[in-house]
Amino acid sequence: MGKPFELGGIYFKTQKELDEYIRKVLEGGERVLEGQELAVIHDLLLLHSDADAKIGTGIKQIEVKRSRQGPHYCFWVVREDSSIEDFSYHKCKYSRDRLIENRRESAYREAIQKQITDYKYVQRKSNQYCDICGTQESIQVDHFQPPFLDLVGDFEGSKSDIPVEFEEAEGTLYSKRFRECDEGYRCAWQMYHKQQGVLRLLCKNHNLRRKRK
Ligand SMILES: [Zn+2]
Repeated sequence: MGKPFELGGIYFKTQKELDEYIRKVLEGGERVLEGQELAVIHDLLLLHSDADAKIGTGIKQIEVKRSRQGPHYCFWVVREDSSIEDFSYHKCKYSRDRLIENRRESAYREAIQKQITDYKYVQRKSNQYCDICGTQESIQVDHFQPPFLDLVGDFEGSKSDIPVEFEEAEGTLYSKRFRECDEGYRCAWQMYHKQQGVLRLLCKNHNLRRKRK
């Protein structure tokens, strides 16, 4: 690892520097991570060799807690569905491309957040039920056809100026947004999403089941 690498806004010059940082976070004892520490460990989790399975339905919070195997501390992800799982930072391999891809996905989602809430609370205002089972509880918006990442892939296929840097989205450390200088790109994506995306409402159960596929 020659060049300095960035995680959660901190530049680490060597692997040893990162190891040292991680050790300190773990030595801080049991707690829910916040601020800078959360930003770094969150980025690390995205780089885990089994990140998709670890993240599952989405990250609600990241904690330092004792390991199932012994008294030492390790990292735990608490998912949106409240299930928890530990992860080893030794399995997190730094890859700039992968980190950028992850951040970009987050920026794509941030850009269309308003379309999602408009769909749920305006268009479907009086039809708040799961399109599969009809329940009215825990209703969420799903990308029916095509799935979200396919839509992103199709959009990027027509672009040559795909952004690689992003800003923090306000209100949460988990999400990025496109920079102001990429406003044109952001608008083009919003337009594309509006025209090509087909949304539907699903109950939490059906939405989670779909995401796992
Ligand atoms: Zn349902």
